[in-house]
Amino acid sequence: MGMADKTLVCKDCGVEFVFSEGEQEFFREKGFENAPARCPECRKVRKQNRHRQKDAAKMEMD
Ligand SMILES: [Zn+2]
Repeated sequence: MGMADKTLVCKDCGVEFVFSEGEQEFFREKGFENAPARCPECRKVRKQNRHRQKDAAKMEMD
């Protein structure tokens, strides 16, 4: 039985986004049991913020 696309609501911005069949498969392969809580945009922003924080911490150390 195949999986279907799911519509999820982003926990950060409240926008609805599609958790596609392919993404669900990808998550399963990676061993993630939970569906993503955030839309792709918010995930991208969070990733960039993490990088920025890391860079800032490095600059403070220098
Ligand atoms: Zn979002």
